[in-house]
Amino acid sequence: MGKPFEDFGSLVFSEQEMEDRLPRPVYQSWKKTVANESTLDRPTADAIAHAMKLWAMEKGATHFTHWFQPMTGGTAEKHDSFIEPGPAGNPIARFSGKMLIKGEPDASSFPSGGLRATFEARGYTYWDVTSPVFIRDNVLCIPTVFVSYTGEALDRKEPLIKSIGALSRAATRVVNLFGDKDVKSCNISVGLEQEYFLIDRRYFDRRLDLKLTGRTLFGAPAPKRQELDDHYFGSIPTRVSAFMKEVNQELWKLGIYAKTEHNEVAPGQFELAPVFTNGNIAVDQNQITMDILRKTAEKHGLACLLHEKPFEGINGSGKHDNYSIVTDDGQNLFSPGEKPAENIRFLVFMCAFIKAVDTYPVLLRMSASDAGNDHRLGANEAPPAIISVYLGNYIEDILYSLYQGHKSQKGKNEIRDFSPVTTLSYIPHDNTDRNRTSPVAFTGNKFEFRMLGSSMSAAFPNTVLNAIMAESLNEIANQLDGIKYLQDIREKAIDICRNIIHDHKRILFSGDGYSEEWVKEAARRGLPSVRSFIESVQVLNDPKVVGLFTSLDIYSEKELSANRTILEERYEKKMVIEVRTLLEMTRKDVLPAMTAEFSFNARALSAADAAAPKFVKDQVKKLSALIDDTAKAVTALEKGWQKAVSAPDCFSRGKNIYYDVTPLMQKLRALIDSYEEIASREFYHLPMYEEMLFNL
Ligand code: ADP
Ligand code: MG
Repeated sequence: MGKPFEDFGSLVFSEQEMEDRLPRPVYQSWKKTVANESTLDRPTADAIAHAMKLWAMEKGATHFTHWFQPMTGGTAEKHDSFIEPGPAGNPIARFSGKMLIKGEPDASSFPSGGLRATFEARGYTYWDVTSPVFIRDNVLCIPTVFVSYTGEALDRKEPLIKSIGALSRAATRVVNLFGDKDVKSCNISVGLEQEYFLIDRRYFDRRLDLKLTGRTLFGAPAPKRQELDDHYFGSIPTRVSAFMKEVNQELWKLGIYAKTEHNEVAPGQFELAPVFTNGNIAVDQNQITMDILRKTAEKHGLACLLHEKPFEGINGSGKHDNYSIVTDDGQNLFSPGEKPAENIRFLVFMCAFIKAVDTYPVLLRMSASDAGNDHRLGANEAPPAIISVYLGNYIEDILYSLYQGHKSQKGKNEIRDFSPVTTLSYIPHDNTDRNRTSPVAFTGNKFEFRMLGSSMSAAFPNTVLNAIMAESLNEIANQLDGIKYLQDIREKAIDICRNIIHDHKRILFSGDGYSEEWVKEAARRGLPSVRSFIESVQVLNDPKVVGLFTSLDIYSEKELSANRTILEERYEKKMVIEVRTLLEMTRKDVLPAMTAEFSFNARALSAADAAAPKFVKDQVKKLSALIDDTAKAVTALEKGWQKAVSAPDCFSRGKNIYYDVTPLMQKLRALIDSYEEIASREFYHLPMYEEMLFNL
C-alpha cells in the first residue's frame, strides 16, 4: 500500500502538470487566457490538446468528453474515443485543439425553456479554461459551458463565470479605492458542505419511490428517531467507514481536498466537507463529489440519498455554501483582522453584504430552492424560509456602535469615538456563539449560506451572491469615486456604512430562526416570507432582479425568462412523477397488503366466531376502514391532480400542485403510515423506516 496522499491530484491535469508538459510560450498563453487577458489561438489550443491527450493516455484514458451542467441540476457527458483510423489503416489517437475547445451535443434533449427553437436545436459546449480537466473511469473530462446556437446560456456555469467577473470588477474597485492599488482582480472562495443519507441497497431497490423520486413517499416513523441525539458525531459504522475511505481516495485523486466527515443528527445521515477553493472549481467539484458518493455507495452495497427530505420525521439534508471574497494577492475581504472596528474596508464589505441580502431576499431564497427543498425550508427544521443575517455579537456590536456614533455626534475622527468596541483587541477566530438556525451566518471570515438543498447545484446560489454583492459594492464605489484623499474616503465610507445599517438593519437577526415569534417579528419588520419554491421562482420576473442581472451582463432578459420556464416545468414534472409513484405503490403494494391482512383476520374471525379474540375483531374493523379510506384517498388524489394540471399555464399548475395536490398526497400518506403501524411483516413487504435507518 502506498502512502495515504501519494495519489493526490493524480487524475487532474493540474497547472503543475501543464507547466511541466507544455512549451513555455504555450503555457504562458494558457495562463493569460485563464487570467482573462487574452484568448487561445489555434496553435496553442492544439499544443495543449496534444499534451493533454498524452497525459490522459498514460493514465489509461481512451475517451474524452465535454462535461457540462445542463439546467437539470446534474451533469451531462457524451463520450468520444480518441481512436481514429490512421493513414496506414492502423489505429491512431487523435485529439485536436478544436475538439478540446468546442463540442456540439444535441441540445434538443436538454431543457432550454424556449431558448432553442425546434428548427435550431444546436447547442455548443466550450472549454472552461478556469476549471481543471480530469479523468474519471478512463474518460478525460473537460469542464465546459453550454450555450445555444444564438449564444444564450443553456447551463448554469456560464452565468456563474460571468458573475465572478462582475464581482471581481466591483470588489477590485473598492479595494483600489481604499489604497491597495496592486490588487488587479478578486475571486470567491467557496466551501460546500454536503449532507447525505446512506441506506442498505437492498431496501433501496425494493422501494419504487426511492428509485424514482429520491425520497420515501410514505413510511411510519421508526420506534427510535433522533431523540437520543446519539448519532451526531457518533462512531461511524464499519461499512460506512469503508465507504468513506474509498470516497476520500477517489476525491483526493481528483484533487479534491475532502477534509471532514462525520455522522449527522439523523440516523443514517452523514456530512462531507471539502477544503474551500475558488468558486467555479468548488461548484464543479461538488458535482463530482455527489456523483462519487452515489457510485461508491453502489459498490459497497449501499444507496446514497442526496434528496433534501428522504424520510419524514427526522432531519433532511442540506448543503452549506461557505462564501468569501479574496484578492489576487490572497487577502480575504471578510476577514476582520486584529481590530475589526478600525478595519474600515472590512466594515464596508460587511455592510455591502447586509445591503445586498436585504435588497434581494426573495432572489436569494429562490436560488436555494427546488421541489425537494420545499420539505425543509418553511417546514419546522433547518433554515427557515425567511432570509435574515446573523453576524455574531462582536460584529453586530461593532456595527451598532458605528451606527449610534452617527446619531450621537458629528465631526471628525468619528471612527475613534465608537468605543468601547475599539478596545476589543482581537476577534476570536472560533465563533463560540454560532447560530445554527440562521439561513445566512457570518462565521469568522466568511458567510455561510445554509439554505441550499443537498441535491442542488451550487452554481446559481453563488451566481446570485456574486451579482447582489457586485451591485452593492459598485454602488458604494460610485459614492467614493473622485474623493481624493484616503482619509476622506475612509470618512465617507463610515457614513455609507451608517446609512446602510440604518436602512437595512431589519435583516439582522440573532435569535432562534425556527421559532414562531420570529415569523411574527419578521412580518412586523416587513421581511418577505415566500412559502414555496414555485412561488419564489416568480422573482425572476421582478424588474429589479431583471435589472440586476442584465446591467451586470450575467443574464439577458430572455435567458431569465427561459430559466423561469425551465424551473416551473421541472417542478411540474417532478411532482407528476411523485404523484404517479405514490398511486402506483398504493395500488400495487399497499392496498393488496391491506386486503390480504384483512382477509386473514376476517377468516380467523369467522372460524372462531363469537369466541374470536378482541384483537382479531379490532383488526378486522380497523383494516376494513383503512382499505375504504385509502381507496377514497386514491380517488381524491387522482381527481385533485387532474383538476390541478388542467390550468392553462405552468405557474398556475405548479401553484395548484403545491396548494391543492400535496395535501392530498399527505392525506393518503397518513393512511398508509397508520396501516404500517399495525401491519404484520407477513403481509406488508415494503422496507420500513426502522429497517432502512438502522441497518447500516
Ligand atoms: P461547520 O460544519 O461548522 O459549518 P465545517 O468545517 O464542516 O464547518 O465546514 C466549513 C466549510 O467552510 C469548509 O468547507 C471550509 O473549507 C469552508 N471555509 C473555511 N474558510 C473559508 C473561507 N474563508 N471561505 C470560504 N469557505 C471557507
Ligand atoms: Mg456548516
